[in-house]
Amino acid sequence: MRMRLNATRAAAACLVVGAIAGVPAQQQPPPQQYDLLLKGGHVIDARNRISAVRDVAIADGKIAAVAARIDPALASKVVDVSNLYVAPGLIDIHVHVFAGTGERGSYAGDNSVYPDGFTFRSGVTTVVDAGCAGWRNFDDFKQRIIDRSKTRVLAMLNIVGNGMRGGKFEQDLSDMDARATADMALRHKGLIVGVKTAHFSGPEWAPVERAVEAGTIANLPVMVDFGTNRPERPLSELVTKKLRPGDIYTHLYSGLRNEQLESGAVNPALFEGRKRGVIFDVGHGGGSFLWRIAVPAMKAGFVPDSISTDLHIGSMNAGMKDMLNVMDKFLAMGMPLDDVMLRSTWNPAKEIGRDDLGHLSPGAPADVVVLRVEKGRFGFVDMYGARLQGTQKLAAELTLRDGKVVYDLNGITRPDWNTLPRDYRQTGDAKWDAITPAPRPSGRGGGANP
Ligand SMILES: [Zn+2]
Repeated sequence: MRMRLNATRAAAACLVVGAIAGVPAQQQPPPQQYDLLLKGGHVIDARNRISAVRDVAIADGKIAAVAARIDPALASKVVDVSNLYVAPGLIDIHVHVFAGTGERGSYAGDNSVYPDGFTFRSGVTTVVDAGCAGWRNFDDFKQRIIDRSKTRVLAMLNIVGNGMRGGKFEQDLSDMDARATADMALRHKGLIVGVKTAHFSGPEWAPVERAVEAGTIANLPVMVDFGTNRPERPLSELVTKKLRPGDIYTHLYSGLRNEQLESGAVNPALFEGRKRGVIFDVGHGGGSFLWRIAVPAMKAGFVPDSISTDLHIGSMNAGMKDMLNVMDKFLAMGMPLDDVMLRSTWNPAKEIGRDDLGHLSPGAPADVVVLRVEKGRFGFVDMYGARLQGTQKLAAELTLRDGKVVYDLNGITRPDWNTLPRDYRQTGDAKWDAITPAPRPSGRGGGANP
């Protein structure tokens, strides 16, 4: 009788809990409600103003909880990440990844790289292709790269219909159609997150004006690579008049377009543009980052809103290397780690209107990076081969995409081999592992969903 009473009480309690959680009482949560628990790391989540030791629990590919202590018994898999940093997966809003077309000398071809080869190993889970494709070749880019990458690949559409296929296309004003560009962007909301203008060498404002027109129709930001420096269209007019609040000036520290005055001072137009709400982005690239521009600008307080790589076949083996190396450069210039992370996660997410990304709020996609800060003597090289010495270097220990391990540098999620059965096979579980999950009757794990 007593037992029955207790059972009834327990059932009533479950009903209440179930009602609160919004699930039927019959489907009580299993004892292990989390698929993965990252335990004891220093969480840096700029949007939620967290920079402290926290546990992070993940379920069904989403962040389930972030708290000072989460019971490890509630998780199928627990990973000790103490002495490491845990942050949202990095968002690199300036890359070139339209690889595989076979076109020589073209960013819609051989100058691009395949995203998955360069992202997870440096903690990047989301990239934005910055204008390799225009409205004419976006469908090809989508089916060739976006739809089949594990990396979350988004795009800024080039105002040039043919995209970044080289001079004869990129200088052709007749192929810069605001309406066609906006129409394509509106067909892929959330996937096309901006309009790009780049590499223009003429005196006309038309590429910028039409990009802004397309951005206005589609309600998207414009990113500007301001091309050849021309007196007919000065930087000051671009950032104080032509661009709207939320538009993005990339290649901030190139020094190629009067970002720095003869005196060495930061062009005051940049401060004025920032006051108007124009965004300033690094876009390091092969030819867009100089210590003699960046160091004085940082000292004068002109810090970037977002840190991005301008990843392509030329930059990756030169001074740029990868996202973490570009972030290291800002650490080396004295920017605190929390500020570096803000500019590599939440700020870029906001800039591209994807505020579902770049943070670790419960319910957000569990794109996560676990970072180690290595101490030592490191050298960082700019576009002309000048070096700046630093004492810190970031390394990606673990990268998760939608809650699953896609990169694990030192096997911190893995068992020691000699603790396993003599005939061991795949050690992972598809609940949390996208690299070596044991085969499941229900099929494969992982998969991309931009
Ligand atoms: Zn670029």
